Amino acid sequence: MMVYETCSRKFTKLLRTLGLGDVVISKNGVYPVQLPPKVQLSEDIKVKDGINHNLKKYLSRVTFHIENSCDYTCRHCSNAYRQFISCTKNIESTIDNLQMTDLLEELRGTSLYSINLVGGDVFRNGDFVDIVKAIRIEHKHSTINIYTDNQNIRKSISAIDKISQYKPTFRILVGEDYDSVLLKRNIGHLASVGINYEIQFIVMSVAGMKRAKNEIVDKKYSYYRTTPYCEHNNLSFIRKYLFTKSKDVLESYHDCDMINANQEINRYYFGHVHIIKDKFYSRIGDTQIGTMSMGGLADAIKKELLRRNSNWMNTRKKVEPCASCVYRYLCSPICDYNAYLKRNDMCTDR
Ligand code: SF4
Ligand code: SF4
Repeated sequence: MMVYETCSRKFTKLLRTLGLGDVVISKNGVYPVQLPPKVQLSEDIKVKDGINHNLKKYLSRVTFHIENSCDYTCRHCSNAYRQFISCTKNIESTIDNLQMTDLLEELRGTSLYSINLVGGDVFRNGDFVDIVKAIRIEHKHSTINIYTDNQNIRKSISAIDKISQYKPTFRILVGEDYDSVLLKRNIGHLASVGINYEIQFIVMSVAGMKRAKNEIVDKKYSYYRTTPYCEHNNLSFIRKYLFTKSKDVLESYHDCDMINANQEINRYYFGHVHIIKDKFYSRIGDTQIGTMSMGGLADAIKKELLRRNSNWMNTRKKVEPCASCVYRYLCSPICDYNAYLKRNDMCTDR
């Protein structure tokens, strides 16, 4: 009885802290209650037809796929872009400065938090410098992320020097068989021209993870992340580094806004649009949600807000087995890994 009471007190305290529930004390006893969700779906989303509000206000991130060619043949090229933002030669994607002018016109008035440029080798786009300049003129305060493989930096130093004045951030993708000396040299150059960077180690094995971690310590890199990459034969590695335990879900940081948001939207996808040529996508690998010529961006956003099973609105409460799981509002949102692995849960102890 004592144990039960201690556990139930702890549980109630947790629910209170997380803003999920409470107890009511009445003359007939003590009853648990679930707190009503604070999030109310915006009227914009509820309206089925004739939306004429500024739906572009929901846009916070745009990823332009500006180039599909590249000199290299990385092992992860054909699949990594379906798991996280990465360069690839598999997307038919060349945007020139003229097209970019139209796209930026379409994006005018939005307050984008970040704008991503992805290739292939982005530097092979003949209008690369003009594209970065045009984006910076239109979006003075947005972060411009340039995704490039470590190998493609060295031969593009002159373009990099020219765009340094537009204050981009480099996301340097590093496969498992990377050249450590080249990486150090590339970072030295970026730092010398005042460009911020983050190294993204793409790892597919325990040995690869070990090498990346040693490299980070040895070279004293301050800005980095390790990103597990799923192959058909590395499931045990993926389970170790990507899957979670329910205990860890509880222990990770949650604030009430996050919990409330998790009830209504998918925080991973919401507000993000990929642009490939003149087509809009809310997730790479999913069907397009619109095109420039057929209704433009506002129509695409409307479609994404209203369509069944849209990525922006795909919460864990809508999918099995998460719908019936007590952690569904605490767990990180469904993401590209879930789509790639074709499973909604990535927890190991259920
Ligand atoms: S550098 Fe990027 S685009 Fe080029 S082959 Fe490697 S993964 Fe593919
Ligand atoms: S079943 Fe879904 S919500 Fe529950 S812990 Fe696993 S991934 Fe998270």
